[in-house]
Amino acid sequence: MNTKKSEALYQSALNFMPGGVNSPVRACKNVGKTPLFIERAEGDKIIDADGNEYIDYVCSWGPNILGHGRKEIIEAVKHSCDNGLTFGACHRGEIALAEIIQRNIPSMEMLRLVNSGTEAVMSAVRAARGYTGRDKIIKFEGCYHGHSDGLLVRAGSGLLTGAIPDSAGVPKGYTENTLLAVYNSEQSVTELFEKYGNEIAAVIIEPCAANMGVVPPKKGFLEFLRSITEQYQSILIFDEVITGFRLSLGGAQQYYGVTPDLTTLGKIVGGGMPLAVYGGKREIMECVAPLGSVYQAGTLSGNPAAVSAGLAALSILKSEPELYEQLDKKGEVLEKAFVESGFNVNRVGSLLTVFFTSQVVTDYDTAKTSDTKEFARFYSYLLENGIYTAPSQFEAMFLSSAHSNEDIDYTCEIISQYKKIIGNQKRRTQ
Ligand SMILES: *Cc1c(COP(=O)(O)O)cnc(C)c1O
Repeated sequence: MNTKKSEALYQSALNFMPGGVNSPVRACKNVGKTPLFIERAEGDKIIDADGNEYIDYVCSWGPNILGHGRKEIIEAVKHSCDNGLTFGACHRGEIALAEIIQRNIPSMEMLRLVNSGTEAVMSAVRAARGYTGRDKIIKFEGCYHGHSDGLLVRAGSGLLTGAIPDSAGVPKGYTENTLLAVYNSEQSVTELFEKYGNEIAAVIIEPCAANMGVVPPKKGFLEFLRSITEQYQSILIFDEVITGFRLSLGGAQQYYGVTPDLTTLGKIVGGGMPLAVYGGKREIMECVAPLGSVYQAGTLSGNPAAVSAGLAALSILKSEPELYEQLDKKGEVLEKAFVESGFNVNRVGSLLTVFFTSQVVTDYDTAKTSDTKEFARFYSYLLENGIYTAPSQFEAMFLSSAHSNEDIDYTCEIISQYKKIIGNQKRRTQ
């Protein structure tokens, strides 16, 4: 595999950006590599600066559920751009997008468009605090909710494998109201409520965790969170930045049948453009300015080009309801290939993670038992065989409607050969 051009570009990038990247996990440090520079992408393929082509299972970390460069989305953005890029004012696209979101996720009675998942979660937490007049929140170890100060505690993915256990530059006071619970542990949540009960504004969770690798909620766990938050009049926030429009049209809340008070969306909802959303119960959202005293604003919020991309993506998803079943089928095929080759895999629909541990992964501690050196070896093996996955153990493989059966079958073939090839390599080096 020739990656000379990527390597040269990386050297240039190092002069300008910390680690040469605009988001840390792209640096590929965890797997002992330097980043590939991507030239273009189409369907289920991504092509680097040296012309190498890969089957892409990153899908931009989730947004591209319809694959790369879907015609309808590109056309919608082009058309929108013909009318100007940003107005900093109201436009009809905002209503159309809000309406389609609300029709699919009815718990989002009112919502706000923002620019990133980080911003959506930060704002949802602020709204929950403003509404309840309480300060503390509960988050779960291994769940990632963006990089705002108060949420950078045991936050999974980039932080799980990186050199930074938590982040420098976050004053202790900013996280002292962040209480940590264990994913899937009712007891850990109960203990926090027994201790801090009426001080807890909200419980925030990835309803299916995907930032410590994929970790599904145990049966009854989300229902338990629903009932204990009701008991203490706390707000239940589902961070559906990954799961929204991925597990189903109605997100994880429809998939699992548990309704939160507030929801955050990102990734898919922007159709590949920077757009995210927070929203929920009307009476909570009515606390947000200008109706209420919770301040939140954005110069580019509701950006017309981003809105048009989101609208086009959601319209396609809505008009092809069979798509979710097909994605699940593809996930099942991949899962089967992994299982048959003796891999330990967690899968929910089109989200899938392979862990290199003999333990069943149900939370952050069990996720961390995965052998990241073994992961790095597997990652390199896939890449060398034209399969592009996230360069971190603690991420998901994402499937899209553009993944062809042929490419999935090829991936299964490569997976099935791994243990034999690695076994031979190990024998040779001994
Ligand atoms: C990606 C992600 C975020 C942050 O979104 P950005 O757009 O990267 O700021 C928040 N929550 C979850 C669950 C995510 O996966």
